[in-house]
Formats: sequence, C-alpha cells, structure tokens
Amino acid sequence: MPHQITLIPGDGIGPEVAAAARRAVDATGVRIDWETVELNADVILKTGQSLPEYVIDSLERTRVGLKGPVTTPVAGGFASVNVALRKRLDLFANVRPVHSLPGVHTRFEDVKIDMVIFRENTEDLYSGLEHEVVKDVVTSLKVITRTASIRIAEYAFHFTHTVGRKKVTAIHKANIMKLADGLFLRCCREVASRYPEIEYRELIVDNASMQLVMRPETFDVLLLPNLYGDIVSDLAAGLVGGLGIVPGANMGEHHAVFEAVHGSAPDIAGKGLANPTAMMLSSVLMLIHLKETDAARRLQTAVEKVYAGRTDLTPEGGGTASTTQFTDGVIAALN
Ligand code: NAD
Repeated sequence: MPHQITLIPGDGIGPEVAAAARRAVDATGVRIDWETVELNADVILKTGQSLPEYVIDSLERTRVGLKGPVTTPVAGGFASVNVALRKRLDLFANVRPVHSLPGVHTRFEDVKIDMVIFRENTEDLYSGLEHEVVKDVVTSLKVITRTASIRIAEYAFHFTHTVGRKKVTAIHKANIMKLADGLFLRCCREVASRYPEIEYRELIVDNASMQLVMRPETFDVLLLPNLYGDIVSDLAAGLVGGLGIVPGANMGEHHAVFEAVHGSAPDIAGKGLANPTAMMLSSVLMLIHLKETDAARRLQTAVEKVYAGRTDLTPEGGGTASTTQFTDGVIAALN
C-alpha cells in the first residue's frame, strides 16, 4: 500500500523546495500518494480563513504532512497559519536535529556540531493573546502550563534515553520570568529526576546563546519553551551552514508534520536559488516516521554525497547550481 501524505507547498520558496523534496522522495522508490493542498497567503486572503478546513481534513485523513513555509505578515494582517496548524493538530513537539554536514563550509568547520532541539510548540508568547490596554500600551500574554511543559520535557528525555544521547540542557529566563519560566524549569527538573543516567543542566537563554556560538560542541539535546526555541533554532542553523540546511518535525499524539526551520524567504523566491536541503532532510525524518528507514538512509547519504562532491550546490552552500540542479544531483547520487 502506498503511504498517503499531505503535501503543503506553502508560498515564497515553499513550492520550489517542496517540489524538489517530492522528486527526491519519489526517486527513492517509496510509494507515496501525495495529496497536495494549497495553503498560502493568497488562499488565506481569498477565503478569509487562516486555516482552511480542507487542510485539516486532509491531515486528519493522512496523519502525515510534508509542509513548505507559509508567509506571515509582520506587525499586522492575518495570524500565523503555521502556529494555527500546530495548535489545531496539537503538534506539541518541534524537533530539529542540527548537525554539521560533511562538505558544508561554515565558520565552525573545525567543530563537530551535533545537537537536537526540542521546542515546545503550542503555547508561550505564541498564544496570540495580545491586547491594547489603552492607546499605545499593549500587553502580550505568555502562557506556560504544566501540561505542555511536562509533555515536551518527557518527549525530549524519552528521545535522549532511546537514542543513547547523554545530556539535556533546559534553556530559560527564569531569573526574570520567575513564574512562567520557573514553572517550565520545575517541569524539566521533575522529568530529569526520572532519568538519572542523563546529565541535566540549565542555562539562561542569553548565556546559552553565547555558549552556542563559543562552544557549540558542548550541546547535545536542547529543551526550550516556544519563543526561545524558535530563536535558538535559527542561531543553531547558522552554525551548520544556514537555514537551508536544517530540517524539522512537528510531532503530536496522532499527527506529524515535517517542515524545514526556514521561512518563505521572499528575497529569493521564484529565482531558483533556494537550497532544498532542509526540505529533503525533513523528508528523511518523514521517511523514518513512516518506517521507511532504508529509503531515509539512502536519501540522507545522497544529500551528503552532493555536499562532499561540491559541484551541485546552491548559492547558500557556496555553489552556483539552481534548486533543480541540486535536486538532479541528489537523485543521481541515490543508490
Ligand atoms: P526566512 O527563513 O524566510 O529567511 C531568512 C534568510 O534566510 C533569508 O535571507 C533567506 O533568503 C534565507 N533562506 C531561508 N531559507 C533558505 C533556503 N532554503 N535557501 C537559501 N536561503 C534561505 O525568514 P524571514 O525572512 O524572517 O521570514 C520570511 C517569512 O517566512 C515571514 O513571513 C515568516 O513569518 C515566515 N516564516 C514561516 C515559517 C514556516 O512556515 N514554518 C518559519 C519561519 C518564517
């Protein structure tokens, strides 16, 4: 039986990198029925719905999605469809493996970077609860709950234990947000106490950012509430070669949606310059989720071979190849 997958190309560079990832997955020989659904700024403006029901209907059917980025207007306009989707399907864990790829030139080439970021995905300042109290005075509610904090901590520690990683770093600002981040931290400590074999440490987010740049090799598993997780993910992507490299998975109890860390990159959209690596590696995570581990390994290896060869790299990787040429290179490297 082919796997049923909801493909959401998104907008900006989304359709380009989604098409590239789809071609690469199809080339592995894994049989997939792709159900393509449009979710982009145009559709949202036309339908007046930030999350049209047909998107949810499709994901309810397939349970698995591969998603390109969707633009969110800045300082006004409609609310983030990405946040809405994660909340609606209760995709509570955002998992982002960040590691050096052989052949990718970065400022940190002599350092082995290998970390996995676990970002809480449903609450915090992404609650969208903002209010203008009086003119020019605005409050924005940061929501932290025990349920969501325990859930992401358990997910991170369970993963760490299962794959044999050694250390979890919880990242917070509980020196200032004593109640909100204090609760997050207490939940992390509670879960950590059940895993005595795993080293547990805590870092304040500003210090963590500095340490990530100075000593990225000392990080293993990172556990963060939503906002810090968002910011630190982009910082970590910068360590290993850019946003076009780092994949991600939004995991819930019943659904999984795989998407790159990066956004819709309007500055390069439609120019054939986008690096589809992050989408392809998100597809690798999807294939693992589908238990197609052999295809996942072959696709991961093919991407690595292209970087090692350095002839088919897009501008972000230091080359001159287009998105399509990179994709052709990956497909040719599949064995
Ligand atoms: P961005 O990630 O789109 O781009 C940041 C920089 O990285 C840009 O210079 C861009 O060209 C570059 N970049 C990103 N992905 C790349 C790729 N695959 N290949 C080569 N270069 C790449 O971040 P932004 O500009 O802050 O956000 C643009 C839009 O994307 C915003 O509307 C934002 O809300 C949205 N966004 C969506 C998601 C999502 O759908 N999950 C995530 C983040 C941002």
